Amino acid sequence: MIQDLVKGSDLAGKYNMDGPYLAAVDIGGTKITVSIANISGILVKVYRAVQLEGDNLAVPGQVDYLIEHACRQLGIGKDDIYALGVSTCGPFGIRDGELVLVAPNLCGGLAKEREIIPNDWTEIPLQRELSRIYKKIHIENDGISAVTAERMFGAGRGEDNVVYITWSTGIGSGAYVDGRPIKGKNGNAPHIGHIYLVDNGPGCGCGNFGDMEALSSGVAIARDYKTRVTAVDMTSRDVTAMDIMAGDMAAKDVAPVDVTAEGLTVGSITAEAVFNLFRKGDPKAESVITNAARYFARGLVSINAILDTRVFIIGGSVFMNNRHILLPMVKEEFCKSFPALSKDVEFRPCALDSYLGDLAALSLVMPDDWVRQWQEKRPWEYAPEPIVLDNNLKL
Ligand SMILES: [Zn+2]
Repeated sequence: MIQDLVKGSDLAGKYNMDGPYLAAVDIGGTKITVSIANISGILVKVYRAVQLEGDNLAVPGQVDYLIEHACRQLGIGKDDIYALGVSTCGPFGIRDGELVLVAPNLCGGLAKEREIIPNDWTEIPLQRELSRIYKKIHIENDGISAVTAERMFGAGRGEDNVVYITWSTGIGSGAYVDGRPIKGKNGNAPHIGHIYLVDNGPGCGCGNFGDMEALSSGVAIARDYKTRVTAVDMTSRDVTAMDIMAGDMAAKDVAPVDVTAEGLTVGSITAEAVFNLFRKGDPKAESVITNAARYFARGLVSINAILDTRVFIIGGSVFMNNRHILLPMVKEEFCKSFPALSKDVEFRPCALDSYLGDLAALSLVMPDDWVRQWQEKRPWEYAPEPIVLDNNLKL
């Protein structure tokens, strides 16, 4: 999946006042973002909601369209793009030696609830389609590209053994071991969110039951709070973590009820609302969040037993918005584990945060001499406001 990782020497003598240009592509479950940069910084950024209708070439088609649109904004052609870094949701598969996306949040043919994704795709031939148009591309899953960017520009500078984890609606990760990114046979290592943690646990979007994402993601926090409130309402007794999991089915049969003085209903609860309830002293919110943090920490213990890392960098909205609550809980649980493995591990918040999408994709193709200049001047902090393209615009 790696094509011609760009080295500084490739570009020697090619600089002019404006170029060369690199394109950064960030493909998520809800939107696709394209930025174009030269050595002085990010010059333009465009995004639009990802369109999941049509055939399985629709996503690469949207990427190409957004690059073309961004180039037009700069008055350059697609031929002026020297290299393309693509950071995308996964997982990946390999078809005829080329990388394909087998992502359940894009491919309706893989999702269990097909009606929520209006297509029957089982894979997206991203590498084949983009390499027909662009000569130099480097595609990685967003966990690997995030850890690469954090190691280049953020909280992982100078670290050879570092794991990045995003704690958000889902849980993703990427890792460097001994100074090298770990990839695996299809470029999916390490998919930490899908480590099994308990028997008879709640279901994950991947099809597992009781894995880390099912127990500690933002979706899990909201679900567990809903279930717990409903379970308490039904039984008038306190509930255990196993009751919460077992109660998931029962909760579906119960109509939403008001649970707070603000009129918040069970049906409308988000993870962020549960954290707000925690801050107000709600014991059920405290219990749900404590459980989620404990399971998250146990996932880190498992990955650390395999990778023997030095630094965990944690990002994602669930963590970044609530890190003063979560970090002490995670550290406490983590430090209960085998001391020989856990004692020298550090925890750091993601440093790039809102800039991570751009920098993750750019870091995959950025020449060495750019890296030095960007480390010094931090030009991503002065990137222009993104242009949002109309969802109804036909390609
Ligand atoms: Zn899973």
